[in-house]
Amino acid sequence: MDQEETRTCIVCGQPREEGIHIVSEFICSSCESEMVRTKVEDEKYPFFIRQLRQIWVRFHA
Ligand SMILES: [Zn+2]
Repeated sequence: MDQEETRTCIVCGQPREEGIHIVSEFICSSCESEMVRTKVEDEKYPFFIRQLRQIWVRFHA
């Protein structure tokens, strides 16, 4: 059983067991669902975009 493995979420910075992998980065399931619910006019939206941009920057580097 290797379900104890935790990854550090790129959005909240917390170690989590459940989430999704994008490229080589990890987003926990709670941040993922929060991002899905976040609207463009939400004040947290730019924060999520900035965190995600880190992934794209590394991916295209
Ligand atoms: Zn998270």
